[in-house]
Amino acid sequence: MSQTRVPFQFIGNDTALDFVNTLVAYKDAPLDLIPDAAKFDGWLKAAGITPKRTFSMDEMQAIYGLRTAMKAVFDARMSDKTPSAQDIATIDAYVASYTPNLQLTYVNKTFTLRPRDEELEPHAILGKLAQMAAELLASVADGTLKNCSNPECVLVYKDTSRGSKRRWCSMKTCGNRAKVAAFRDGLS
Ligand SMILES: [Zn+2]
Repeated sequence: MSQTRVPFQFIGNDTALDFVNTLVAYKDAPLDLIPDAAKFDGWLKAAGITPKRTFSMDEMQAIYGLRTAMKAVFDARMSDKTPSAQDIATIDAYVASYTPNLQLTYVNKTFTLRPRDEELEPHAILGKLAQMAAELLASVADGTLKNCSNPECVLVYKDTSRGSKRRWCSMKTCGNRAKVAAFRDGLS
C-alpha cells in the first residue's frame, strides 16, 4: 500500500496535536504523512492554514525538528515528566519569531505562555489589552461572562466554576453581604 492511502489524522481537537499526529504508526512502523513539502502543503490546507508558498527542503527540516520537539513536550506533559529544556527552547524560538512578545517557560513543573518583555511601550500595552479583550470575546462561552450578582457592584468576571455557578465577585465582600442580608431577613 502506498503512503498516500493513509489519510491525515484530524482527531486531536487541536491543530498542534493534529500536526504532531502527522507521524503515525502504520503496520508497526513509523509512517510520516508529510514526507515532503507537497504533502505538507496538502496537510496545511486541510488544517485551514494557508501557505504563501511551498516549503523548501531546509524549511521542511525545521518543520520536522519542531514536530519532534512538540511531540516530546506533549509526551512529557502527558506523563507528568520534566520536558527537555532543549525542546522547550526549540518551540519557544519559533513562538518568539511569530509572536515576539510571548515566551514559553517551564517553571515549577508548570508551563506558562507569558509576556517576554516586562517593559512595554504604551502602544504595545494598548495592543496587548485590546488583544486580550479580543481573545476573551472570541473564546468565552455563553453565560460565563458575568457581572457580580450584587446590583450595586460593577465587578465582572469569567465564571470558570463547575456548572457556572459563581454569583459573586468575592465571597468575602458581596457574597458575604448577601449571606448576612439573607440571615437578617430570616430573623425579621
Ligand atoms: Zn460584587
